[in-house]
Amino acid sequence: MEITVTKTTAPKAKPPVDALGFGKHFSDHMFVMDYTEGKGWHDARIVPYGPLQLDPSCAVLHYGQAVFEGLKAYKDANGNVLLFRPYSNMNRLNQSNDRLCIPQIDVEFAVGAIKKLVELEQDWIPESPGTSLYIRPFIIATDPFLGVHPAQTYKFIVILSPVGSYYKEGLNPVKIFVEDEFVRAVRGGMGFSKTAGNYAASLKAQEVAETKGYSQVLWLDGVERKYIEEVGAMNIFFKIDGKVITPMLNGSILAGITRDSSIQILKSWGVPVEERKISAEEVFEAHKAGKLEEVFGTGTAAVISPVGELCWKGEKITINNGEIGATSQKLYDTITGLQSGKIEDTFDFVVRL
Ligand SMILES: *Cc1c(COP(=O)(O)O)cnc(C)c1O
Repeated sequence: MEITVTKTTAPKAKPPVDALGFGKHFSDHMFVMDYTEGKGWHDARIVPYGPLQLDPSCAVLHYGQAVFEGLKAYKDANGNVLLFRPYSNMNRLNQSNDRLCIPQIDVEFAVGAIKKLVELEQDWIPESPGTSLYIRPFIIATDPFLGVHPAQTYKFIVILSPVGSYYKEGLNPVKIFVEDEFVRAVRGGMGFSKTAGNYAASLKAQEVAETKGYSQVLWLDGVERKYIEEVGAMNIFFKIDGKVITPMLNGSILAGITRDSSIQILKSWGVPVEERKISAEEVFEAHKAGKLEEVFGTGTAAVISPVGELCWKGEKITINNGEIGATSQKLYDTITGLQSGKIEDTFDFVVRL
């Protein structure tokens, strides 16, 4: 399928680097293609970024048949454009598609479309440390029909946003609230899918945690509220007595690509990594025994986010004196080094344009 290009006649001014924030500014163009049952994906096009026209009865607006992805583009020191693991993102999009009865996309074509869009918009890739061009592919159901049924028409869209660091605090450790009332997902539900509804389900707990002074929620399993699952938009890791432990993928946790990259990198350093069930109690007991060395979250937006404090059932623990630990720092430096081409990629993560 050919991708047509219609260029904007009114390019926008680029935001200053210190005003980037996360997801506030969007580039001049977007990629769009349509799906119609019987016809498949068609009309692939790059067009000026702008509002969509949707029927008010449009399926996604009522029943949330929507999936999305998030990945980043960087420039190396020579100005080459690098994408970090785009095939993993498009494969995961298809897993989410399957769960929500959305038709599969052609992974190779979708990565090609992202490359073409990013190439056109490469002036939008910010170059100072910690910044990147965030890529947000998503699919929405567009049938003008109020019946509860998988739609027969969809739009696959890719938008681009130049971003600074995800947290206002930078790489400073965050305070996290272990949520023991609300749950995000249960096995058999949509927890392993990157879908809008999971985020809608998370907002209430996030809001409550913020009023208590915490920046994120750590979710426990939806059945026993005992085992740790993940943070809002990040997977979670614990370094206990020299070993790194992260909850195993059990169907209710999102299989983070930064999680997978971190596991591969840690193993390449000879650090023991365990993917298994881990309870909040085990973490708090390890802290009491003086064995909880580090806690960190992993996700595309923040890359590595050290955790300085956990609060569970009113009990607060401070991790590593509220400072970033050596393993978290080394992982952050390594992943961002690979992403920006400063470190030679022996993992086959980076895709050059
Ligand atoms: C996107 C996401 C993550 C992180 O995944 P990455 O591929 O590392 O960005 C973790 N948890 C949830 C719920 C997510 O939506």
